[in-house]
Amino acid sequence: MTRYAYFHGEIVPIEQAKVSIMTNTFNYGTGCFGGIRGYWNEERQQLYVFRILDHYRRFLDSAHILLAQLDYTPEQLAQITVDLLSKEGWRQNCYIRPIAYKADESIVVRLHDLQDKVAIFSQPVGNYLPIAEGISVGTSSWRRVDDTMIPARGKIIGSYVNSALIKSEAQLNGFDDAIVLNQDGHVSEGSAANFAMIRKGVLVTPPTSSNILEGITRRTVIQLAQEEMGLPVEIREIDRSEVYLAEEAFYCGTGAQVSPIVSIDHRPIGTGKVGPLVAELQALYFRVVKGEVERYTDWLTPVPQAVTA
Ligand code: PMP
Repeated sequence: MTRYAYFHGEIVPIEQAKVSIMTNTFNYGTGCFGGIRGYWNEERQQLYVFRILDHYRRFLDSAHILLAQLDYTPEQLAQITVDLLSKEGWRQNCYIRPIAYKADESIVVRLHDLQDKVAIFSQPVGNYLPIAEGISVGTSSWRRVDDTMIPARGKIIGSYVNSALIKSEAQLNGFDDAIVLNQDGHVSEGSAANFAMIRKGVLVTPPTSSNILEGITRRTVIQLAQEEMGLPVEIREIDRSEVYLAEEAFYCGTGAQVSPIVSIDHRPIGTGKVGPLVAELQALYFRVVKGEVERYTDWLTPVPQAVTA
């Protein structure tokens, strides 16, 4: 089966989507990317892409931080993605990866006066984390990149070295992931997901000023918690030790989806099992992304199936 990618302005067989080792972004991480999910609804035989325009708005915001001149609107990028997915013909959940990169074969370290290009590929995806039984996490000895260093609110390629350091340390120490603190010692997020907890019946999550990525899943779960579950939400700084006292905790992200956290630094969270509110939120999230909740179908972009001759 031929696989495809969007590369140099067209959809091509993926083997043709290659860059030189001299490419600026390959050398310095001077690009940004997105991570979007497509969900397959088996009953309707339909693939839905979740919040595609919001993802591309953030993608273009990240590019803007990197002085990248991309001649695309979110709508154009969404259309290209739908065309690509139509051609790929996934009949299962998939992950979509747009990348904006400095395409010059030049080893100058700067952002301006370089050529910016966009590439997009997709691949099938399952669940990254054991989302049914819950995950155990530690507190990372690394700190989150600060806004004054590499802005965490953008999805900037180079800053994922920070995420990789956090993830590997956590896994090599026997955890599934870690909670990373910002420079002030407040909770920021996970290696590649936002953090939230239920404390005294309130959903609490750190503000963007805690050096988090402006997560689209975070926004989604905040809205679902408020509108569908009547849960109060507080966006405020969280201390390291406060998370030990949460009734429930979870990660949220395109990859992580809604991943319950059942222990932090070897302390059980609540009962040490997936809690009722996070279980409800997770179930609701999965119904929403598959198009099963009418009220939120505006978030979904159906992918037309290519007609095979
Ligand atoms: N933080 C980081 C560092 C991430 O890489 C991700 C995944 N994109 C998230 C948070 C969650 O963001 P989103 O819900 O938009 O996928």
